[in-house]
Amino acid sequence: MGVASTVQNRPSNPDGDYLPQIPWRCLDYIIQEAGKKIGVPYLPDRCAQLTVAHNGHPACHYCGNCSRGCDAGSFFSPTWFTIPEAEHTRNLTLLTDALVRAVLVDERGQATGVAYVDRHTKREVEVFAKVVVLAASCVETAHIMLNSKSRHWPTGIANSSGALGKNLCDHLYGNPGYGFIPRLVGQPPTPDNIADSTIGWMPRWQNLENPREEKFIRGYSVYVGGGCGEFPGHYPQLEGFGSEFKRNIKRYYPATIGSYIQAPALASPKNYVDIDPDKKDIFGIPRLRFHYEWGENELLMWEHSKKMIIDFFRAAGGEMWGADAEPNRPGTSLHEVGVCRMGNNPKTSVTNKWGQTHDVPNLYICDASIFPTQTDKTTTMPLVAFTMRNCDHLLENFRTGAHKRA
Ligand SMILES: Cc1cc2nc3c(=O)[nH]c(=O)nc-3n(C[C@H](O)[C@H](O)[C@H](O)COP(=O)(O)OP(=O)(O)OC[C@H]3O[C@@H](n4cnc5c(N)ncnc54)[C@H](O)[C@@H]3O)c2cc1C
Ligand code: SF4
Repeated sequence: MGVASTVQNRPSNPDGDYLPQIPWRCLDYIIQEAGKKIGVPYLPDRCAQLTVAHNGHPACHYCGNCSRGCDAGSFFSPTWFTIPEAEHTRNLTLLTDALVRAVLVDERGQATGVAYVDRHTKREVEVFAKVVVLAASCVETAHIMLNSKSRHWPTGIANSSGALGKNLCDHLYGNPGYGFIPRLVGQPPTPDNIADSTIGWMPRWQNLENPREEKFIRGYSVYVGGGCGEFPGHYPQLEGFGSEFKRNIKRYYPATIGSYIQAPALASPKNYVDIDPDKKDIFGIPRLRFHYEWGENELLMWEHSKKMIIDFFRAAGGEMWGADAEPNRPGTSLHEVGVCRMGNNPKTSVTNKWGQTHDVPNLYICDASIFPTQTDKTTTMPLVAFTMRNCDHLLENFRTGAHKRA
């Protein structure tokens, strides 16, 4: 894959082999120094973005277009990395505009393939397989499984535990404080928010020595960003209009700092998805409903981060413009987990540790829905790592004959 970062020896953030980190700006060093004064680390984030050429992919040329997809293939994405490799094997048939509705089963309730709706013709098509792997991203995988009802699986395929759709966890996001560093006001603005990326972050520092240091359990991280991005997000903080307003925007451009907290949620029976009995989408597929509210633990972390940011701005010699009154609404982070949780006990979990459903051994799940809960980190790199591990197990099952070859 190629991940740019540094070895950091932190108990909550396992290290790996990294490409050189994305270069820091003046602002990052100011943030790091201020963090040190208040006991909060600020370190290079783990970015799947190539700072040097890697495995046949060119180094990033820092054009800043990442949010729209990289036209050079310099950050990890299936389009540039895994799909071409799979095509190279000549064993891949790629179907697009194919919206999977349900997993099909045989008379024993085992998976035989999937039924999908062709988005153009709106007709349903069935395809068959020895093994089915769902990787439709967290909640959509649960959606497909909940819609896969049959005589064997009246509440959805592989749901004898009743855990399917339950234990939805989302990262609490919100901006605990934003402002600017006066000594950077008026510096020449350069496009230094390369790639719109989170170059550095404050990895979890709470409850590491002792799990009960704080009022909440576990811990959160904070992204602190700034610099001259594609768009001057600080415009609402400045008054005026015309050329003086534009000059002011430019003067503050290199000096602004924003932050957002990434707080893991604890699993709660209040948070789940289920099938809406009344609503269908334009293809006639029953829709998913979300039930979610922030828990006390996440909200304690939110309050804690607001106090920390005030201390941080003071330590940085900065000035605060404000903070969000409330955290963002659930669903903002796009880091959902939990709805097909893995575990050793088939009575309380949907899959085993290999992402293989307990009830239907030839049905695997390769996305974040199998993680029982979150950490202070994002989900994508862990889910890619688990997918590789789960695929090894799947192949081993073919080798030993547990799964039959086509
Ligand atoms: C704007 C944005 C920024 C993000 N930033 C970060 C970040 O910085 N770091 C991080 O770790 N994560 C980030 N994430 C989250 C990250 O994108 C997801 O965790 C990751 O893509 C999930 O991978 P996946 O393979 O499970 O799902 P996806 O990448 O969503 O792939 C699922 C695929 O399944 C297809 N699909 C869905 N439903 C069906 C169906 N019914 N039938 C057929 N096909 C279907 C979809 O079209 C898609 O191609 C971000 C997400 C967004 C949207
Ligand atoms: S900045 Fe982003 S889009 Fe541009 S080359 Fe680098 S990875 Fe690709």
